[in-house]
Amino acid sequence: MAEDLPLFELKNVSVDYFLSGKSYRAVHNVNLKGHQGETVGIVGESGSGKSSLARALLMLEPISSGSIFFQGTDLQELSSSNLRKLRKHMQVIFQDPDASLNPRRTAGWHLDEVFSIHFSQVPSQKREELIVQVLHTVNLDQTLVSRYPFELSGGQKQRLAIARALLLSPKLLILDEPLSSLDAQLRKSTLNLLKTIQEEEGLGYIFITHDLSTLGAIAQKVAVMYRGSVVELARVHELYSDAAHPYTIALLSCIPIPDPQAERARKTLTFPQHSPILPVGTGCPFAHRCPYATAVCKQSCPPTQEISSGHFVACHYPCPNLIVRQGGSVSSSGPQNCIGPGC
Ligand code: ADP
Ligand code: MG
Repeated sequence: MAEDLPLFELKNVSVDYFLSGKSYRAVHNVNLKGHQGETVGIVGESGSGKSSLARALLMLEPISSGSIFFQGTDLQELSSSNLRKLRKHMQVIFQDPDASLNPRRTAGWHLDEVFSIHFSQVPSQKREELIVQVLHTVNLDQTLVSRYPFELSGGQKQRLAIARALLLSPKLLILDEPLSSLDAQLRKSTLNLLKTIQEEEGLGYIFITHDLSTLGAIAQKVAVMYRGSVVELARVHELYSDAAHPYTIALLSCIPIPDPQAERARKTLTFPQHSPILPVGTGCPFAHRCPYATAVCKQSCPPTQEISSGHFVACHYPCPNLIVRQGGSVSSSGPQNCIGPGC
């Protein structure tokens, strides 16, 4: 594989759904790519199209326009049997592990099922060896194989789901809010586990979350989604220090601070809730909530521009001088470099 060949690449991908005879856009012209061993974070509020984008990448959702490549192969050109074969390399872990577990079957059965479906020729002794190995990788005790899902904790079920995915030796793991149902300590240990697996196996990850604070620990770059569009894309530390889209700034200012006094004193960017199923108009999708929106924002959709190397923003007034201070208040380093009306 050529060194710079992306593991996956989405080019101008859109997904439309139909509700009561009307179509609306859940994913709008998204461009995104990631490499082997890299974690691409996708962040955005509920309903912003993160899961639809993941399903589109897996070709589980028909796309209305655009192209999807996996290791240079255009997925739309594959026959359904070749697509099925290639999907083994792209595994997905969901927020709720229960959704993929049969309550009447043991943990061991769930692991063995992977072989029954995909590698039926593997003899039972080899299956057992591989199952022991994968349980070790995800730090699950072997004695758990005889337990039913209701006898496992949330963290154990999530590890079981990860183990099942790993048995297929995937190249890409799509982690769709994998930590949301876990408590703080389990979140940390699962995150560490995922990092270790990635280092050892060289997997690419897509890590979907509504919590921007998690991504600093795992992602190299982050796409911020708002109403189906990627409004900002940057390396994670640049996003934390130089976020340029008002929506990203708002997300950053929502990260809780453990000091109650500082939390009470902080200023956050607030805006009204929206209906995610509003049709996408001609203007900026964030204009009706943006504290800095002008008439231009309501009339025309901002093009995506590269404001520094690898840092893309879809805003008429990208404002890298807006600073989210420790404590969440927002200020600008001055109008001299900034073209935004918020400065
Ligand atoms: P997120 O994962 O960011 O919460 P989703 O991708 O699940 O967002 O959903 C984006 C929008 O698409 C939401 O308004 C949701 O209600 C809608 N949606 C998701 N799946 C479907 C579906 N299968 N049919 C119709 N609408 C859907
Ligand atoms: Mg989702």
